[in-house]
Amino acid sequence: MIFNFPLSVLVEKAVEDKISSMLLNLDLGKKCIIFADDNVKKIIADRVADIVSEKFEVRMIKPESAEKNYIENLAKTVSHYDFSIAIGGGRTIDAAKYSSFLAGKPWIAFPTILSHDGVVSSRASIENNEMKISMQASGPTAIIADLETIKGAPYRFMASGCGDLISNISAVNDWRIASRAKKEKYSTLIAELSLLSAKACMEHVKEIRSKSYGGIEALLWGLVCSGFAMNLHGSSRPCSGSEHNFSHALEKLFHEKGLQPAVHGEQVALGTIISLYLQKEDWEQARRIMKKFGLPVTAKQLGISGEAAVKALAAAKDVRDRYTILNKYKLTEKASRKILGRLGII
Ligand SMILES: [Zn+2]
Repeated sequence: MIFNFPLSVLVEKAVEDKISSMLLNLDLGKKCIIFADDNVKKIIADRVADIVSEKFEVRMIKPESAEKNYIENLAKTVSHYDFSIAIGGGRTIDAAKYSSFLAGKPWIAFPTILSHDGVVSSRASIENNEMKISMQASGPTAIIADLETIKGAPYRFMASGCGDLISNISAVNDWRIASRAKKEKYSTLIAELSLLSAKACMEHVKEIRSKSYGGIEALLWGLVCSGFAMNLHGSSRPCSGSEHNFSHALEKLFHEKGLQPAVHGEQVALGTIISLYLQKEDWEQARRIMKKFGLPVTAKQLGISGEAAVKALAAAKDVRDRYTILNKYKLTEKASRKILGRLGII
């Protein structure tokens, strides 16, 4: 049976001792498939597989690609198992999430980095002809967070996770704007859940920057609640507005030029400053917070040219069909250049 919310969340400094009893309690079956890449295998997945194999039949696989066709094929393998565990970052989690959904099997999220809120969401980000697409899947049946492993990853990923959470503020503003324009229904409860996630992270700057266990937990629960807000709504709307449009437009631009995009949460953080400015909200406070987290607040810090930022902002409105503040401005490249200059981004 597939549930669209986590039945169990295991958060421990070291989870090894408790995994098997959690899995037995969940009662998902005896055959388990573990997704992990080579790096994550060495860090933790091999140890986890050893422990889990004492009570379950275990097979470990390495997702080779994020392409839709590859993952659809993978679903055939997954269908021979009772449940899967995705140990790793976004790519591994998305491959496990989408293939498990296609196979009709439950999956467990075991993130080793906390870089975005897709960890627990029911949407999977995969590739189709080398372009990123978002597909409907199911949320995880359980979440396992090994705080020591997450602490061991570079801080940049945690900062990116914070950027993705703070972006919920401009996303919710956009949702209200769309609701006022009679384009969409607004849910106060889901919006507040999304805003709470942003707040949880902003109130723990010091703890998150120092990678204390408390800071990692605050970020983890923020991402869990953010993902849950999206699952409740059935789309990314509560956590993804015009700032995500800017990020998607950047990715499209990089794709056309054969360049690697920056980290998702960093792109979104820069987009949040722009969106809040356009929404006539306190963009300066957001910029101060981004700086405190060590997130980029200029195009240069993000590792992109000023012209790329200008082009992305001008193209952001039409990058997907979602009503946002951008629909009110219809920015040209000239207007975008002026705004980005005003915000100190270029
Ligand atoms: Zn995001």
